[in-house]
Amino acid sequence: MQDPNCIFCKIVAGDIPSQKVHEDGEVLAFRDIRPLAPVHVLIVPKKHVATLNDLTAAEDDLVGAMVRTAAKVAKERGHDGPGYRTVFNCNREAGQSVFHIHLHVLGGRSLGWPPG
Ligand code: 5GP
Ligand code: ZN
Repeated sequence: MQDPNCIFCKIVAGDIPSQKVHEDGEVLAFRDIRPLAPVHVLIVPKKHVATLNDLTAAEDDLVGAMVRTAAKVAKERGHDGPGYRTVFNCNREAGQSVFHIHLHVLGGRSLGWPPG
């Protein structure tokens, strides 16, 4: 495990159970434990990266894989046509509460804009 104090590293390692919806060599997607929409999935890299501020060019392919996985998850659930939202929260004022980057995928209802 890359950060023994990180809850998403524990989920990636299988030490904390999750409802997985996609897994490959680079990323894991699982249902958010407190869903804010009918579909609320989190896409996480298996590699520990704390915030968007910590990304380098070395992670460009990884972030691309996360975004494409989000689109795949949405499409599999029929949200590609009606629409869905993807969100990275970065640091506390944006509401980041788990410091292992994750892409929220929200769908299945109308989503207000701007966010609070
Ligand atoms: P953030 O607030 O950092 O953008 O999003 C963190 C998300 O992780 C929250 O929506 C929260 O509900 C979710 N979360 C926190 N702990 C767990 C957990 O143990 N399992 C799952 N599936 N989701 C979690
Ligand atoms: Zn982590």
